[in-house]
Amino acid sequence: MLGHPGDEVVAEYLASAAWRERRGWWFQWFDEQVGGVPRCECCGAVEDVDLLHVDFANFRWEQVNDVVPVCGRCWVLVDQQVGEITRGADGMPYFMVVRSAIAAVSRAVRER
Ligand SMILES: [Zn+2]
Repeated sequence: MLGHPGDEVVAEYLASAAWRERRGWWFQWFDEQVGGVPRCECCGAVEDVDLLHVDFANFRWEQVNDVVPVCGRCWVLVDQQVGEITRGADGMPYFMVVRSAIAAVSRAVRER
């Protein structure tokens, strides 16, 4: 996918110490600059929240807006949406695909 390093490369990075450190840096930034507990971008949950890449432009040196907090439940739904959107719109850059997916899941969750 345009603007995506590839599933294997990403999975390897997400399991690395480098990502653990970068992820920790993000949560520290949030704590110091935003405050409170990060909420899921889709449903607002505070439990089981992890950071989802919305832009790989700074892959391995993520900036604060390159990731968003998403809970485990919504993560699965966003993943499904990314797959569906990609099938319907080959060549759409990743950041647009994932933003569309997050918007779709947010709507679906609010209607639940
Ligand atoms: Zn959620």
